[in-house]
Amino acid sequence: MNREKKLESINKAILKIEKLYSNCVLCGHKCHCDRLNGFMGKCSVKEKPDKIKIASKTLHFGEEPMLVGVSGSGTVFFSSCNLRCVYCQNYQISSEGLGDDISIEELASYFLDLQKLGANNINLVTPTHVIYQIVLALKIAFENGLDIPIAYNTNGFDSVELIEALDGVIDIYLPDMKYYKNENAKKFSNASNYFANAINAIKLMHAQVKDFVYDDYGILKRGLIVRHLILPNNISGIYDILIELKNNDMCDVILSLMSQYSPQYQALNYEELSSPITKKEYDEIIDYAASLGFENILAQEFESQSNYLPDFNNNKNPFKI
Ligand code: SF4
Repeated sequence: MNREKKLESINKAILKIEKLYSNCVLCGHKCHCDRLNGFMGKCSVKEKPDKIKIASKTLHFGEEPMLVGVSGSGTVFFSSCNLRCVYCQNYQISSEGLGDDISIEELASYFLDLQKLGANNINLVTPTHVIYQIVLALKIAFENGLDIPIAYNTNGFDSVELIEALDGVIDIYLPDMKYYKNENAKKFSNASNYFANAINAIKLMHAQVKDFVYDDYGILKRGLIVRHLILPNNISGIYDILIELKNNDMCDVILSLMSQYSPQYQALNYEELSSPITKKEYDEIIDYAASLGFENILAQEFESQSNYLPDFNNNKNPFKI
């Protein structure tokens, strides 16, 4: 990695993102509030520009194999979220705000600690709404020896303006592509314009990192993993999403199709979300993706969904796997 070039990109990103914060358009909600002067948008973050709230930092072994290898992905979970999905398995941090305020310098030292522990990458989970503090911490960390790829692990509801600002800062993008139909995005995640927003952001991510790079051990150094959590009764519209990705020349992405849905948080209040998906549903989707020409499909073992459920009250090891 060329650290000078990385720092140059981070410095440019800091200036651009500072502007986006003052009239906040970081995500598809486009609240246009002045975050740096204490105003809150839909993500409900009460800004303290020198602090950031995190729920956990850990070596995580439950991510896609090209992120994890044998030594794990250096994962930092940020508190709160710009979406409020009624079935969120991380609801303790996304909606209930579990976590501790730390300084920018402490966050930078967390990144360096994870590198020392052998992490293959720094995996920023739900970073969109607190990205300004994150890039400030990345600057300190790279100035002090950070030298591993940065992975941006997002719900996909990022604005094009934000992804443009992150060019050269992010090495690996891991966006969700959650919904095709706006009515479902509105009903279950309070984001009526989800699809148009996410596809535009993902197209830009693809343009930035589509020359995939792996090391000799098969660990991803640069690239794009599009994730999709399959919801029951085709609520997420996966067939239409696959067609849209293909029509936008994205059959070369790593496509991570997740079968792990189980009704969590408020999902049992919705009849259509109250059961897991079936193996038949899952197998048909995998076959359809292959028939469209996706080159790199990651399928999960169709096993107990509870294996994937975190408990962030145990913030040193929220995952059982
Ligand atoms: S991050 Fe999104 S939800 Fe939060 S204030 Fe900015 S535009 Fe609004």
